[in-house]
Amino acid sequence: MKDKLGFIGLGNMGLPMSINLLRAGYEVYGFDTNAKAMEQFIAEGGNGLATSQAVVKQSEVIMTSLPTPQVVEHVYTSEDGILQHAKQGSLLIDFSTVNPELNDSLHKKAQSLGLRYLGAPVSGGVIGAINATLTIMIGGEEKDYQSGVGIFEIVGKNIFHLGTSPSVGTRIKLLNNLMIGFYTQAVAETIVLGESMGVAADTLYEVLSNSYGQSRIYERNYLEYMKNENYEPGFSTNLLLKDLRLAKNMADEAGVPLLIGEQLVNLYNDISAEGFGENDMSAAYLSLKEKCMM
Ligand code: NAD
Repeated sequence: MKDKLGFIGLGNMGLPMSINLLRAGYEVYGFDTNAKAMEQFIAEGGNGLATSQAVVKQSEVIMTSLPTPQVVEHVYTSEDGILQHAKQGSLLIDFSTVNPELNDSLHKKAQSLGLRYLGAPVSGGVIGAINATLTIMIGGEEKDYQSGVGIFEIVGKNIFHLGTSPSVGTRIKLLNNLMIGFYTQAVAETIVLGESMGVAADTLYEVLSNSYGQSRIYERNYLEYMKNENYEPGFSTNLLLKDLRLAKNMADEAGVPLLIGEQLVNLYNDISAEGFGENDMSAAYLSLKEKCMM
């Protein structure tokens, strides 16, 4: 018999991931604080429950995809949280992007309670979550990874078990998002400068996507968002800012100066303060455009 699954955090990523698990024939119990997310989950055949505690009590594998480290910590460690109520032996999989120390401390607490924990941040965006093509960066014990691999193969495509440290996947994920921050701003600056000289954004894309200026982020930000003038996230500016701050903290601890990375934290902080925080990160383009005398 298949394990019963719990999914807490049915947002831009969690909802399509949980839908793929439902379609694979799993019984999935879900909770989100947002009523609309719950409605969508139930409409897809999910068992929507009123609290995360209720989800945990029903499930043998409990997954989370939550916005910030603070929310993750609360959902795992509060009185009515996952650690307090999960059944002995349950497997906990956190897909959220958090600080590495949180992965390590949740793993330790889980172990002391007879629970199993994997840190498993993902990359590939909402499209990757919908199409089950996510890259998953997993840290944790081999036997726990083996218990979860069937699930990873349903929600993702490129699955990396990177070692027994619960935070090893997160460290690599934060490096990935540091690159995303660089590229997102580079794409914005390149297109705005091109347009200021009369180079149409479509022409620029056609040429640069066949040149070394090509990147996955250029393709994503331009084709999916900027070209359609659609800035609904996707991946919000605020979530990118969170990850850049986490990457910066990681670099500070390692004693590595991030010359551009440091600027990026300030830059996306400003973009968020200008009112683009809940827009897709590609709105870096709109922010720059507003500053131009075009
Ligand atoms: P999101 O904000 O769309 O979804 C998070 C969901 O968590 C929301 O629906 C929210 O209502 C819910 N939530 C908040 N507090 C809760 C609580 N206490 N209990 C239950 N639910 C709660 O965010 P997202 O874009 O889906 O991202 C989720 C995680 O995945 C983040 O850590 C993000 O950094 C990471 N991530 C996102 C993307 C992306 O492209 N969006 C890609 C890779 C990784």
